Amino acid sequence: MKNLAILGATGSIGASTLSVCRSNPERYNVTLLVASKSVDKMLLLCTEFNPTYVAMSCPVAASELANKLKHSNCNSQLINDEQALLQLLQSNEIDAVMAAIVGGAGLKTTLAAVEAGKEIFLANKESLVMSGQLFIDAVKKSGAKLWPVDSEHNAIYQALSPALQESIGHCDLRGEGVSKILLTGSGGPFLNKSLSEFPTITPAQAIKHPNWSMGQKISIDSATMMNKGLEYIEARWLFNASREQLQVIIHPQSVIHSMVQYIDGSVIAQMGNPDMRTPIAHVMGGGTRIESGVGHLDFFSSPEFSFMAPDFERYPCLKLAMDACYQGQHATTVLNAVNEVAVDAFLSGNIKFTQISQLVDRVLQQTETREISAIEQLLEIDTQAKDAALNMIQRDLLC
Ligand code: NAD
Ligand code: MG
Repeated sequence: MKNLAILGATGSIGASTLSVCRSNPERYNVTLLVASKSVDKMLLLCTEFNPTYVAMSCPVAASELANKLKHSNCNSQLINDEQALLQLLQSNEIDAVMAAIVGGAGLKTTLAAVEAGKEIFLANKESLVMSGQLFIDAVKKSGAKLWPVDSEHNAIYQALSPALQESIGHCDLRGEGVSKILLTGSGGPFLNKSLSEFPTITPAQAIKHPNWSMGQKISIDSATMMNKGLEYIEARWLFNASREQLQVIIHPQSVIHSMVQYIDGSVIAQMGNPDMRTPIAHVMGGGTRIESGVGHLDFFSSPEFSFMAPDFERYPCLKLAMDACYQGQHATTVLNAVNEVAVDAFLSGNIKFTQISQLVDRVLQQTETREISAIEQLLEIDTQAKDAALNMIQRDLLC
């Protein structure tokens, strides 16, 4: 039995993780659950899983949960401050961590677990996008085992040789005969929409992904394809891939979750129904196949597969992310920070869909190159970029 912490327990990945825990009760003790505000959801989870510890990042939600826990039959201990949470994550009470907080808010907890050499199930791609080399260096230093949860990166991992699977973060792709990593993406809900209609896209339209059911932010990121851009950066770090070794391919059916092409002409793909419980069960099985609760792919009723190159006019966010990837960590941190502000502003009706990429582009253009050697620098860049983005929105500087 391993003691598992789930960061982002009330979210979409949190729910899928707990579902895999239910299917495999002999494998994991749910020891710590962390979320932000959803008190009632968290209370239900505490009642079902009786975790030893529980934490809510929002203080109002934390005190509400504390009250409700008193009147429940569950004796979970509430962790009230960030420092205590980080210490708990690094203690020997935790073996494995599902990092599934959304956005840069997941950086500190994910890194704390990495630095303590835990087994890391990485869903929170934004933490790796922000901290890149520092993250990978920390993995190497602590000996943490890093498992990619993102379906594409999990697919790529499954298609790699054992030697590469053992060297996540510093893979020698060429040495192991890999010529290219083929990162697939559905193209989201607006793959065929006329570009002239893009300025009037509503949050309700953008949030409706054709194949996957996910949290709000990643759903909007999928509609702009910023998600694929973040995943491009994520793949660059996880697999130590060069520009020539990474390619994005649109595959609208989301059955192939990504592929690896080898120098002999072989292409290895991982396929399945689009359900995150498959990659989650893969990482939680730790190399052993376990039940996920996902049905088998039915080839006879599957749609026909198609593939196309991404159109950067339709998906400017993808291009911005691919460029930022080679500009350095200051650029990927700004890209991620401004995107978070832009997605929030779009969801609250303060900017148009087409202004998401404009905002990211504008703040990136005014960002100075900076060498990064510490997380504190990244957090400072993150705050500055968010301030700059909010300022542009308030002063109505976008067209
Ligand atoms: P979600 O919005 O459904 O859930 C987010 C979770 O994070 C919630 O439990 C929320 O309470 C918690 N949270 C937010 N801010 C927090 C904070 N400051 N402190 C503590 N907890 C906080 O998001 P999701 O779709 O589950 O995505 C989570 C992460 O997984 C994201 O990084 C996303 O990119 C990645 N991911 C998601 C999917 C998917 O299918 N949903 C697939 C691949 C990767
Ligand atoms: Mg993905």
